[in-house]
Amino acid sequence: MAPTADIIIIGAGISGLAAGCYAQMNGYRSQIFEASDLPGGLCSSRSHQGYTFDGGIHYIFGTGAGQPFYQLWQELGAVQGLEFVNQTEFMQIRGSQGDLLRVHSQPDELQAHLLSLAPEDAKLIEGFCIGVRKFKAFDLSMLQQKPKSLMTATDWARLGKQVLPFMGVLGKWSQLSLRDLAGQAKNPFLRAAMPHMFAWPDVPVMVGMSLLAYLDNGNAGFPVGGAIAFAHAIEQRYLDLGGEIHYSAPVAQILVGDDRAAGIRLENQEELRAERVISACDGRRTIFDLLKGEYSNRRIEKLYDGHMPIHSQLQVLLGVDMDLSQQPPWVTHLLEEPVAIAGQNHSEIGVKHYGFDPSLAPPGKSVVSLMLTTHHRDWQTSDNPSRDAESLIDRMELFYPGLRAATECMSVTTPLSLERATGNWQGASSGWLLTKDTLPLMIKGVPKRLPGLEHFYMVSQWTEPGGSLPIVALSGRNMIYEICREDGRAFEASIPS
Ligand SMILES: Cc1cc2nc3c(=O)[nH]c(=O)nc-3n(C[C@H](O)[C@H](O)[C@H](O)COP(=O)(O)OP(=O)(O)OC[C@H]3O[C@@H](n4cnc5c(N)ncnc54)[C@H](O)[C@@H]3O)c2cc1C
Repeated sequence: MAPTADIIIIGAGISGLAAGCYAQMNGYRSQIFEASDLPGGLCSSRSHQGYTFDGGIHYIFGTGAGQPFYQLWQELGAVQGLEFVNQTEFMQIRGSQGDLLRVHSQPDELQAHLLSLAPEDAKLIEGFCIGVRKFKAFDLSMLQQKPKSLMTATDWARLGKQVLPFMGVLGKWSQLSLRDLAGQAKNPFLRAAMPHMFAWPDVPVMVGMSLLAYLDNGNAGFPVGGAIAFAHAIEQRYLDLGGEIHYSAPVAQILVGDDRAAGIRLENQEELRAERVISACDGRRTIFDLLKGEYSNRRIEKLYDGHMPIHSQLQVLLGVDMDLSQQPPWVTHLLEEPVAIAGQNHSEIGVKHYGFDPSLAPPGKSVVSLMLTTHHRDWQTSDNPSRDAESLIDRMELFYPGLRAATECMSVTTPLSLERATGNWQGASSGWLLTKDTLPLMIKGVPKRLPGLEHFYMVSQWTEPGGSLPIVALSGRNMIYEICREDGRAFEASIPS
């Protein structure tokens, strides 16, 4: 059978769309097969009764002109036609006694505010804010500029020179989590609130510092129109470059001949041939289902044996007939009395409204997201999302009186339902969670080829632990760079006018 394409890509998430765009830019005929009926994967949104329910984007690194990752998004046509909202306050944390921690992105304001809350922790607070100031000049994209496998001694030397001025802060703040840092605080409220400043207590402090630094630089915006607007922009770039996307086309198997990837079989049994196959979807499903575990080794099996941390959450999205635009957009409430969700007690509930983007709700109304971190395993024995959503709404009624009566529609996402909808193992929001223990793996990278299998490649948040939109887009870009090198071609990237 004649090949359908030079490259078949499985998945139209941001990594798959990016791989497709760069494949087309480099003269490869590519086709993307996507299980869902929309692009974006985890970076997507759905419409409900006039509301746009966003899958979860909070910020995208690289939205500030001329700043790190911006050129990547320009090449992918993701920033040219979109407007981005920049926020100066990332989140507020409300203690059970009414104390309030405001996570300002501007380091001087943050420092003054934290000192007024906890003067006894001046040393810790000053150290933290010095770190935020330092990360304002740190280019997070430098580690991913080129596939690591193709980096020469000169490339490593150049990278070393770029990183050198930051070695002190990197060494100090990559080895400490927010939870660890909070444990050093003397002030009881700071100790309770600090771990939740970036929604993930186990994230290395340097990740939170980079986030505040990029917010303050205006390089971490939210796309007006939400995640789907961003995904559609990249989809359009791919189509303009001549790529083809097949939606509602789940791949059931990767076809192999003589230990060489040869194409795919869809769930409807249709077979399509290609010179190369790139999987841009869940790593575990790719290796152990689509390839039946025939190309693996101990290192790969260990990665997927369940010992590594994964972040997943319950998200209850509400369309409410209330104008919340004057309220702080994201508040994490520390509860005095925990609320039981999927059989576990939870004491931190995040509440976010999207009033900063009026396009997401009808005039005078709001989209509200109730969020908490929850483990996939808790839902296997107790998958009753509606009951849990109701408990959360009841509890939030205390802080947002009238919320229940104003609710016009609701959508509930659990780790199980996200796993079903996007294929991501355990409903992971970012592949393996970035912690001080998984950081070295992120820097080193996860294998993107499988032992013994030729012409097959993997990209996505599962080959770049910690995920995130710019990093998975670079994952797609770097894979095409490698393929060009295999074929003796010079890699090319262009910016559409
Ligand atoms: C709630 C939440 C909030 C987040 N917030 C942010 C944020 O603020 N900023 C940020 O940078 N990142 C954020 N992220 C992380 C970011 O969204 C992800 O890391 C990134 O989108 C992953 O992209 P991907 O292409 O690797 O995978 P996915 O987005 O998972 O794409 C994989 C695609 O493959 C498809 N697929 C799966 N199996 C098959 C199959 N068998 N056949 C065909 N298609 C298949 C899926 O349907 C999906 O479309 C967030 C994630 C979540 C869940």
